[in-house]
Amino acid sequence: MNSTNDEELSTLSDIFGSNVFNDAVMRRTLPKETYRSIRQTIEDGTPLDPQVADVVASVMKDWAIGKGATHFTHWFQPMTGLTAEKHDSFISPTPDGRVILDFSGKELIKGEPDASSFPSGGLRATFEARGYTAWDITSPAFVKDGSLYIPTAFASYNGEALDQKTPLLRSMDALSTQAMRILRLLGNTTSRRVTTTVGPEQEYFVIDKDHFDQREDLIITGRTLFGAPAPKGQELEDQYFAVINDRITAFMADVDTELWKLGVSAKTKHNEVAPAQHELAPIFATANIATDHNHLMMETMRKVALRHGLVCLLHEKPFAGINGSGKHNNWSMATDDGHNLLEPGQTPHDNIQFLLLLSAIIKAVDEYADLLRASIANTGNDHRLGANEAPPAIVSIFLGEQLTDILEQIEKGGVSKSKLATTVHLGTNRLPSLPKDTTDRNRTSPFAFTGNKFEFRMVGSLASIAPANTVLNTIVAESLRQFADRLETAKDLQSDINALILETIKKHKRVIFNGNNYAPEWVAEAGERGLPNITNTVDAISVMLDKKNVDVMNQHAVLNHVEMESRAEVQWEIYVKTINIEGLTMASMARRRILPAAIGYKASLAASIGSILEAGGDAEVEKALLNRAGKVLVSFNADLEKLEKAIETAAAADGGSREQAVAYRDLVFTAMADLRVNADTLETLVDADYWPMPTYSELLFNV
Ligand code: ADP
Ligand code: MG
Repeated sequence: MNSTNDEELSTLSDIFGSNVFNDAVMRRTLPKETYRSIRQTIEDGTPLDPQVADVVASVMKDWAIGKGATHFTHWFQPMTGLTAEKHDSFISPTPDGRVILDFSGKELIKGEPDASSFPSGGLRATFEARGYTAWDITSPAFVKDGSLYIPTAFASYNGEALDQKTPLLRSMDALSTQAMRILRLLGNTTSRRVTTTVGPEQEYFVIDKDHFDQREDLIITGRTLFGAPAPKGQELEDQYFAVINDRITAFMADVDTELWKLGVSAKTKHNEVAPAQHELAPIFATANIATDHNHLMMETMRKVALRHGLVCLLHEKPFAGINGSGKHNNWSMATDDGHNLLEPGQTPHDNIQFLLLLSAIIKAVDEYADLLRASIANTGNDHRLGANEAPPAIVSIFLGEQLTDILEQIEKGGVSKSKLATTVHLGTNRLPSLPKDTTDRNRTSPFAFTGNKFEFRMVGSLASIAPANTVLNTIVAESLRQFADRLETAKDLQSDINALILETIKKHKRVIFNGNNYAPEWVAEAGERGLPNITNTVDAISVMLDKKNVDVMNQHAVLNHVEMESRAEVQWEIYVKTINIEGLTMASMARRRILPAAIGYKASLAASIGSILEAGGDAEVEKALLNRAGKVLVSFNADLEKLEKAIETAAAADGGSREQAVAYRDLVFTAMADLRVNADTLETLVDADYWPMPTYSELLFNV
């Protein structure tokens, strides 16, 4: 822990942001001109003056040392989806053999980590090992664990993005540029920028560390590769929003405090649907800061859990048969002068700006549903999308009653009214009447309008939210670009806007679906509507390289085709490595734990049959059991051999990373599923004393 004096920070408002070099600290500590110059760079993107950087670095260093920091680190987000950091101390030698504490503007602005140890998807081979980190001035630095953390972007020697932050920042610029064109057309002369705002709700599981430590699968892969269902799952619906137990409460309180110190506005916490599952949501921020904060949130939850003898599982599907975890990525656009552009107001039907932006989003999601799907693809999500709780892999939009009605009116030739919000009466005057939302919730939609923002629910719990927001920003920027190109030359702006909205709705309404996304009929209907249903990561990655998708990212200068290719390459590699590790872990657990346990149990059964018969007894039950366990064991053993063989074959597959990923998907992934079935049956037959690892009951119901 850092040496912040916890007793002094008694009240929440003192704690909040206490370890962050935020605007208030800058205003207080920087010379006036430096502060003004920094604000200009943050707000308007004016180039950073090196002298200003020197002053900021020096002040930042003194502030950080005051918070107990001895080191600084450029903190970045390589294409692994995780964060990376390398710490340098502030010490600098003096000629007389002593040291001073030093930190220059240059060190603040630029770092040179060796890029060759991070995935580059081929960029590295072409451009050598050199890579740079560059200070992201829009996300505040902070002190944590004795180091000053400087959020940075990470790029190759030639400026190709090697990280998640660079394209995200570029996409935010793209969206701002195009959205401003529309706002200007509509008569807005005061706003200067449009930012994307994001509030990611984070789902996670917490289990006891003693149990975790006995499961090789959880330790190595983050999910259980075996495990028969517990007698109780989530069917009683008794966990969602339930009373939080003391141990979890203490953990959550600790997480909140640590996050508040880092300026992360942890706001809402509750138990989620599955046993041992919970959620933490922050207050929304700019997409960039929200991404950084989400990384801090995940890291803090993991660390703090250990202090409480717990382990926080962030995998998308740690347990089969019950809900997995995701991130609900709440997304909107706001002007720098504080207007949420997705706020429909009381009468959305006459809010032309809102309807135009809404049409742009509908068009974007319909035209680039496949790219959005690709942006959230990972091996963990493959277990979740289409499984029992999650949105299916089909991207569709939920608009709700009021907006759907407005769009229908527009289509029929003219919109005249918005269904008004009403009041709910609760049947007794002792309770207040409540203003009703204009739309009910739809928890099954992957992309739902929730009043004044969209909630993209397909993002995986472990994934960075950057790729999803990068794509979202870029595709909406592209719709807005097309709209602006057309409207800027309009003779009659008003009627052209109306025509544009009408055309867009007609053309793209197929992506709107207000029904139950989990129903099997939807899959068929979506097929008829021509909506893509990309069921696995390997295919989703391929879609990134479709011409229209490469073009849109390139056109808005978010990722060029080389960068897109490198990203696809990296993702296939990650897929192959992940499935390989899972397959090897599974085979090892099967051979070295489950097989011996089942054999041991069979031997004990055989021994007792022997002694029963010797004593002249009747061992029918024992014999039947032995026979049954024996049969399952034979299949289990055959499946184990099949898995081992599949791993060998896939590892030797010819071709590039895509071909190898296909081999892992078609051979290893399927062999794993088969082996699991027999293993889980064995678990239900074998004496609990023989079973070599904690069961689902123990894992899920023991905190
Ligand atoms: P809901 O109950 O619909 O999930 P909440 O108000 O609880 O809505 O918000 C859920 C998340 O959405 C929070 O992280 C919140 O900060 C975020 N959020 C709210 N408004 C916006 C917005 N305009 N842009 C982005 N995120 C937002
Ligand atoms: Mg929500």
